[in-house]
Amino acid sequence: HKYVYDFAEGNKDLKDLLGGKGANLAEMTNLGLPVPPGFTITTEACKAYLATGREPDGLAAQIEAHLESLEREMGRKLGDPQDPLLVSVRSGAKFSMPGMMETVLNVGLNDRSVVGLSAQAGGNDRFAWDSYRRLIQMFGKTVCEVPGEEFEHALDDAKRAKGTQNDLDLDADDLRGLVDAYKKIFAKHTGREFPQEPREQLDLAIRAVFESWNAERAVVYRRQERIPADLGTAVNVVAMVFGNLGADSGTGVAFTRDPGSGAQGIYGDYLANAQGEDVVAGIRNTVPLQELEQIDKKSYDELLDYMARLEEHYKDLCDIEFTIERGKLWMLQTRVGKRTAAAAFVIAGQLVDEGLIDLDEALHRVNGAQLAQLMFPRFQLDHEFQPVAKGIGASPGAASGKVVFTSARAVELAAEGESVILVRRETNPDDLNGMIAAKGILTSRGGKTSHAAVVARGMGKTCVSGADELDVNVPAKKFTVAGQTVNEGDVVSIDGTTGKVYLGEVPVMPSEVVQYFEGELDPEQSDDALVKAVHRIMTHADEKRRLRVRTNADTGADAARARRFGAEGIGLCRTEHMFLGDRRELVERLILASTDEEREKALAALLPLQREDFIEIFREMDGLPVTVRLIDPPLHEFLPPLEQLAVNVAVAQERGEDVAKEEALLAAVRRMHEENPMLGLRGVRLGLVIPGLFAMQVRAIAEAAVEVTRSGGSACPEIMVPLVGAVQELETVRAEAEKIIAEVVGDSGVEVLIGTMIEVPRAALTAGQIAEAAQFFSFGTNDLTQMGWGFSRDDVEGAFFWRYLELGIFGISPFESIDREGVGRLVRIAAEEGRAARPGLKLGVCGEHGGDPDSVHFFHEVGLDYVSCSPFRVPVARLEAGRAVI
Ligand code: ADP
Ligand code: MG
Ligand code: MG
Repeated sequence: HKYVYDFAEGNKDLKDLLGGKGANLAEMTNLGLPVPPGFTITTEACKAYLATGREPDGLAAQIEAHLESLEREMGRKLGDPQDPLLVSVRSGAKFSMPGMMETVLNVGLNDRSVVGLSAQAGGNDRFAWDSYRRLIQMFGKTVCEVPGEEFEHALDDAKRAKGTQNDLDLDADDLRGLVDAYKKIFAKHTGREFPQEPREQLDLAIRAVFESWNAERAVVYRRQERIPADLGTAVNVVAMVFGNLGADSGTGVAFTRDPGSGAQGIYGDYLANAQGEDVVAGIRNTVPLQELEQIDKKSYDELLDYMARLEEHYKDLCDIEFTIERGKLWMLQTRVGKRTAAAAFVIAGQLVDEGLIDLDEALHRVNGAQLAQLMFPRFQLDHEFQPVAKGIGASPGAASGKVVFTSARAVELAAEGESVILVRRETNPDDLNGMIAAKGILTSRGGKTSHAAVVARGMGKTCVSGADELDVNVPAKKFTVAGQTVNEGDVVSIDGTTGKVYLGEVPVMPSEVVQYFEGELDPEQSDDALVKAVHRIMTHADEKRRLRVRTNADTGADAARARRFGAEGIGLCRTEHMFLGDRRELVERLILASTDEEREKALAALLPLQREDFIEIFREMDGLPVTVRLIDPPLHEFLPPLEQLAVNVAVAQERGEDVAKEEALLAAVRRMHEENPMLGLRGVRLGLVIPGLFAMQVRAIAEAAVEVTRSGGSACPEIMVPLVGAVQELETVRAEAEKIIAEVVGDSGVEVLIGTMIEVPRAALTAGQIAEAAQFFSFGTNDLTQMGWGFSRDDVEGAFFWRYLELGIFGISPFESIDREGVGRLVRIAAEEGRAARPGLKLGVCGEHGGDPDSVHFFHEVGLDYVSCSPFRVPVARLEAGRAVI
């Protein structure tokens, strides 16, 4: 079994075996770039170690052989007292992963080879002792779990003793003293001396990398990111090169384009006389990469040349780690770099222009989540606003408001018309009302799957979670951050995309991407690179996709906006809002009617109002299909709450007023009370029990369609019956509806389809029968998820989803993204059996999943005709429907 690969033996496509870092080091080696020699121990070796608890047979010998050839190539032996070879031991899984073991540099140094290293560097004692103290620090911390602060404190003490802030002021003697202090710390915590044997250092470091695959932080991260638990990590052993040899040495990072905006140019940071992590650790101020041109023109030009070659080769933005050792440039890492959502679009567009990729590939490289991010308003940040804390961007958006610490206060202030930000250590179900009232939610604890994060995303509300620099004191109604105190009523601003927190009100600017979708920005005229790129890629997605995209809209205004955003019809027009406001009274009359006559009067009064609503929507959607759902929620939702009514009646009685009407209402509310309204008298059941209710709606729809068509428009209504579980329910409703439609439509040429929602599991499982009576199906995946899992969304999301996510029972909330295996299976069965019974049966989905990227791909695979989602999600669905094809 081959467990060890020389860099020259690998390539970039072997990420499974060699990890990302190893595969790319091999690729650069084979491109002829100056990578220090080294080898990679495979993920297979790691998996074997983790399965058995010991190194697999043959691994030790293979490492020995590769080490020997490395030693030959370098002309030095690992840890040799006179002229030592030193190596770094670097973890590197297929996906980069926080929580994995960090890199150990300078392996091979000990009390003797430190002298040899100094000689090697021309008698540079300072450098040698600095390298040695770094080894003990990194080895102690990452291999032996010695608390890192102890080393930090010892370093601070040494600087203080010297009267300096700068580590460069420590001389060789100071660093030798520091090595002694570090060794004592090491011995105190591990119960043994710092290992002097170079090969033992190497083996312990390799084993620690293997074991870090199962470190708790890594396990939790994988669960949350849905990275399989059995990939294992590779280990890279790389000959050391030194950026800390003096002013002609240094280390840096570079990006081939700006990962923030996508703009072309030179982006990166450089730090002279430094090693490894110093650049990102912020111990000294780095200089912009451009300045390297003055410092070392030869290395700079060489670096630019390699950057261009890497981009050309990977056909994408690359990020790079490099080190300069006495004027000689070394490449230490590259990978296709992370970037912001805006940069992803801009770069994809640029690469098409440069002929490096085609439009299909450009479409593949962006995604709906990025597009969704770009559609939120953004903070207009200039230098005066610096973040005071950075947490996790848990739910995107930009929100400013007055700080409150309790749910009750949030509700109070919001009722006065204030924007508030609810600040908590973490939220719990008691905070729900406050979360609803707040513009944004800020917590100091918890990650992307905390209660605050899950609930906020469900509500589409801006949330920053886990901003742990915040010290939140709820009883004292204040928090402190960066030495400042923020009291209740002070204004803060939070960015739910970046996780950044600002004091004061940061001005917000609208999204130019939304302006483009609204038709306010002409992509041909605009000089905005982002708008141009979005336009180009969206156009391509529209050409590619098979799925149509409709919108969920209940009003003409929503319908109009969705149409501007590219909606090709309405997939769900709810009718219940048409029973609210002033019309509540009519609904009350309907419910209280004790004779047919009274009921018919109430319905007759509702009819023209409904008709007007439909006319407005049909006009906006002229020529496009509009699916209207007959009334779905239980009627008692339109009545006043029981307690309030009871109090009113009691008070009125006290005053001796006439309460006959209120008492009747109260009796009706009591009669209609349901233990479990979600599973009660609603949807088609209501239509079958309340005579004339559905008939009135059907008539309003048909009359509106006829009127719009007669006045020169074109209305294409599709009447959708909710909550059907048995074909007989649908047949009964349909028979009545068809009579009314025939009567109203006459010879107007209007065609009205009648179909059903599939949202009860039984409907999915008897879809073959139901299709006989339905001209279309629309999957109501919200209810299908609730009934498929047997839980009610409102009750469970805040109550225990965080726990299920933490335990990995859910990778993601099944309300956010369709549960393919369970609920998705119901969809698949219903689609197949429905189409078998009625070829060409029109299939769509109108749950919120219609705007979720992963779910859109699933609906494409299952062969639905369209997805329907909220207006703002329409562009996301268009993009993902295109991506599903390529
Ligand atoms: P990470 O994945 O955290 O970036 P790396 O393995 O890339 O960890 O290493 C951490 C730092 O050490 C980086 O700055 C890297 O460039 C540097 N480094 C790693 N190996 C060597 C080496 N052989 N010589 C010099 N610097 C190295
Ligand atoms: Mg690195
Ligand atoms: Mg439903």
